Amino acid sequence: MKPANALLEQTGTTIFTIMSALAQQHGAINLGQGFPDTDGPADVVQAAAVALLDQRNQYAPLTGLPELRTAVAAANQRFYGLDIDPTAGVVVTSGATEAITACLMALLNPGDEVVLIEPLYDTYLPVVTMLGATAKLVRLTPPEWALPREALAAAFSPRTKLLLLNSPMNPTGKVFSHEELSFIAELLRAHDAYAVCDEVYEHLVFRGARHIPLMTLPGMAARTLRIGSAGKTFSLTGWKIGYVSGAPALMSLVAKAHQNLTFASAPNLQRAVAVGLSKSDAYFAALADELQERRDILDSGLRRLGFKTLATDGSYFITADFSGLGFDGDDVAFCRTITTQAGVAAIPVSAFYVGAAPSHYARFAFCKRPALLEEAIARLERWRASQTLTTTA
Ligand code: PMP
Ligand code: GLN
Repeated sequence: MKPANALLEQTGTTIFTIMSALAQQHGAINLGQGFPDTDGPADVVQAAAVALLDQRNQYAPLTGLPELRTAVAAANQRFYGLDIDPTAGVVVTSGATEAITACLMALLNPGDEVVLIEPLYDTYLPVVTMLGATAKLVRLTPPEWALPREALAAAFSPRTKLLLLNSPMNPTGKVFSHEELSFIAELLRAHDAYAVCDEVYEHLVFRGARHIPLMTLPGMAARTLRIGSAGKTFSLTGWKIGYVSGAPALMSLVAKAHQNLTFASAPNLQRAVAVGLSKSDAYFAALADELQERRDILDSGLRRLGFKTLATDGSYFITADFSGLGFDGDDVAFCRTITTQAGVAAIPVSAFYVGAAPSHYARFAFCKRPALLEEAIARLERWRASQTLTTTA
């Protein structure tokens, strides 16, 4: 038989699925794949349940239900002062994952160049490649994850069509500063390029940091597509409702990409997310505060065990340097070992890089109940003690 799609034949199963399967197989606490261990707000879940029962279960409109598009536009205004047209400036998708693909489809032609920043989320590169575009990778390096300005500027060329920016960033927990965003905006203007902004962690930002959408910077509104995710904002990752906001001229193309991908997403979930986005500021503040407490529990526990944890200002994740633990092996071996032997799963940070990568960092998710985080630390502590015994025996 003729070979099927060459790119997909070369693409492995995502690291999140691999580590979750291993965690399940070994009864490990899953601090690998990023998902909360409790459901989001009861009123939002209730709204979805009620919405299932009132006879509006046929196809939603292509760009999303009007009540959700209105809620997305209002949230853009409330949180960032962004003026988004609820009719022509919003497209609702099946998760941010679809939104990312739809935005890339909307903007890219074969031969275009796309600037991507490593460590990068796993769907970016395969989609860029599948669309016939060329990725120009720029690398952030731990422990600072500083933006390498010269390298970033050098990655742009007359063929650059867009930059894909993830802030707050997975897995680093970096929240790009106004100064960094200004530098990026200048490059986009100078090269007449677009930005696709993956802002799924926009509301998961901790004290001392502030999320600034690139779209709010001068001249960026017309060239930026901004992506949000109800999964993250309402701790309901299985719902897979995402939304893209942008200028109508670009959004009409995002809508056409979406019509070929899924056409429309579940109407009851869309209605419930509209309820969620209309919640008071107190909800959004409490979401971040609660997550910050969990970050701090995991951070101090990992430090007590000898990990060097890196600062994280947003997202679900802590990156931890395990080289102080005396483990003999790389990050993939380390994450597999703690999953199978300690009963705690994590994600090797090298999975977010292409080619040679830092290999002594693991990503731990802290979007879990405090008791579960404590239990994970206790398990790692027992494993570590048994390691020491084995080594000295
Ligand atoms: N972008 C980033 C950076 C993510 O971490 C995730 C998810 N976990 C997504 C996109 C996908 O979001 P969704 O689940 O809404 O598809
Ligand atoms: N975004 C999640 C993470 O980084 C995983 C989502 C997925 O498994 N596709 O852990």
